[in-house]
Amino acid sequence: QATDGTGAASERDQDPTTNLLETGAHTLGIRLEPHQLERFRLYHEMLTEWKARVNLTSVTAWEEVQTRHFLDSLTVSQGVPGAMLSSGRLVDVGTGAGFPGLPLKIAFPGLFVTLIDSTAKKTAFLTHVVERLRLDGVGIRTGRSEDLAHEPELRESFDFAVARAVAGLATLAELTLPFCRLGGRVVAQRTLGDEEEVRRSQGAIHLLGGYVAETKRLPWPDRDEDRGLVILEKVGPTPAKYPRRPGVPASRPL
Ligand code: SAH
Repeated sequence: QATDGTGAASERDQDPTTNLLETGAHTLGIRLEPHQLERFRLYHEMLTEWKARVNLTSVTAWEEVQTRHFLDSLTVSQGVPGAMLSSGRLVDVGTGAGFPGLPLKIAFPGLFVTLIDSTAKKTAFLTHVVERLRLDGVGIRTGRSEDLAHEPELRESFDFAVARAVAGLATLAELTLPFCRLGGRVVAQRTLGDEEEVRRSQGAIHLLGGYVAETKRLPWPDRDEDRGLVILEKVGPTPAKYPRRPGVPASRPL
């Protein structure tokens, strides 16, 4: 931060320093190499280039993108064993501009990632980013996860699933647990303090073959809220009728 003496937001946007990202990642036990930091910088550049055309995110200032998007995405790593991060299969449901799936892929290049979003403009952006950053092992699917979770090649085939800012916990469980293999898990990024939501969603989670394995608080300096992870483990198969038809998991949570 010492290099940023301008104070002007527009100039701060151009600030190429990656201090926040590097030190934040370090706090999470992740070491980012120069070529990875460069990928994050380019990703931010594309976010700002495309924001006039596609409603990707309201947050585009470099500092905020580093904390609220990139680092917040990387916190998922705290809920997953190392082996899953080094070579596991991850599905990101409702990924939008790629969060948290793409920052995880940049930080853990051995991951196989499938990014799902129902909005074609957003997946077009993701295709562009993946090409420009030359990332391999990333699949992009345009569609409703309620439909895609019934495709045999996707159903119960992932080591872990994420879905940031997509739905309440019961709906999120219906959208993600069907993708997880037995022994796999869902890492849900939540604002803590709402233990009641976890309790209320337990019936739904059990019905879908999961259980609440752990709730983890994250030490997060830059945020006013208490961020945490709710980790669901897949212990039984998801009955074939779930997820229900598109829209139903959100309008009538289990
Ligand atoms: N995860 C991103 C985006 C959150 S906004 C982030 O944290 O920044 C929610 C996104 O989920 C939107 O892009 C929307 O198109 C997508 N979405 C919501 N429900 C969906 C569903 N059932 N299937 C696929 N995409 C969905």
